[in-house]
Amino acid sequence: TAPARLRDAAVFGLIDQEKTRQTHGLELIASENYVSEQVMAAQGSVLTNKYAEGLPGKRYYGGCEIVDQVEQLAIDRVKELFGVTWANVQPHSGAQANAAVMLACLNPGDKILGFDLSHGGHLTHGSPVNFSGKLYQPSFYGVEQETGLIDWQKVKETARRERPKMIICGASAYSRDWDYKTLREAADEVGALLLADISHPSGLIAKGLLNNPFQHCHIVTTTTHKTLRGPRGGLIMLGQDFENPFGLKTPKGEIRLMSALLDSGVFPGTQGGPLEHVIAAKAVAFGEALSDDFTDYAKQVAANAQALAAGFTGLGYDIISGGTDNHLMLIDLRSKGLTGKLAENTLIKADITINKNMVPFDDKSPFVTSGMRIGSAAITTRGLGTADMGRIVELIDEALMHHADDTRLGHVRRQVNAWLQDYPLFA
Ligand code: PLP
Repeated sequence: TAPARLRDAAVFGLIDQEKTRQTHGLELIASENYVSEQVMAAQGSVLTNKYAEGLPGKRYYGGCEIVDQVEQLAIDRVKELFGVTWANVQPHSGAQANAAVMLACLNPGDKILGFDLSHGGHLTHGSPVNFSGKLYQPSFYGVEQETGLIDWQKVKETARRERPKMIICGASAYSRDWDYKTLREAADEVGALLLADISHPSGLIAKGLLNNPFQHCHIVTTTTHKTLRGPRGGLIMLGQDFENPFGLKTPKGEIRLMSALLDSGVFPGTQGGPLEHVIAAKAVAFGEALSDDFTDYAKQVAANAQALAAGFTGLGYDIISGGTDNHLMLIDLRSKGLTGKLAENTLIKADITINKNMVPFDDKSPFVTSGMRIGSAAITTRGLGTADMGRIVELIDEALMHHADDTRLGHVRRQVNAWLQDYPLFA
């Protein structure tokens, strides 16, 4: 007899609880979003059963005729979305996309130059606790203490001094746009490759709302689950002036096409079988991102972030760099006498999710921090508009200013829950 397929009450009970949590709360974590029902359906499909090591048309397993078409759809759609000629859609995550690129382009011990983690950079850009800081020799650039902005000429000077093999730009908590042109000049001066990790703003970049990294950067990586609103995953693309035939010397001295090198950096370099169910969900999300609806969405994400920043500034909160160009902002809470940890723990009692975050030149530990990071990607998907942002700022301020008063926090939570009933999330 066939094995019983009983519903696993423990796991699905927890999934139901998480659904309730997501439905009731205000989601302001800058790296999160809500995917569509069809993205979830693709990810929960039978494609999870299939092994498909290799690339479409060149697999190490039989029976790949259909997943080949799925993966090709994802590749074709993302090429159209970003206007590029080559993409690898297999990285399981943003960290794995960066690992694959570094494995393909660098030798162990090579120098890399990235944006300082404590100023808003990402672990995979050279942090000593990450593969990137253990396998390669990292140095860092940061923001100016007075302005909270990156001084692009100083990055150039750092590159001249350090002579890295790769310069990495992109961040997890930098609210301003990037000067890819100057960074490319810096890279060319020292013969470095320029990698842009656009994980956070990729949805806005896809719609031309921020500077175009593909004009200047050799390689571009991104996660697919932040402003791009796809399933959790990674993606690697080539810049526009760096298409095939570009040769890069391997350690053995052979010239190999950059695209082939990057493909091999993913598989067999850092991964085994691709997650074809996730790739199907990426294909769906890229299709959605090609639509006019997504153009409106991306514009609203930026408008909502601007409105949030204006609201916080109006209440005397100190936003690093004074504002935002993208979907997020980093707020230094020291002028309010609060820590990031206290803010995160207080707001969760009001069903508002943010994350504590180091601010540049922070005097507190990463477990406490002086800052909170806030983003508009998820609330915009939920349907909240510019006019709603003032109310969010007021609710956050009320909670933070009464962080020791659980009755008041309960009152804020009930307001949040009642308000969000007008914005249903799931069918
Ligand atoms: N790169 C940047 C800039 C990120 O912000 C993140 C995630 O926060 C990553 C890479 C890593 O992505 P993942 O969590 O999918 O590995």
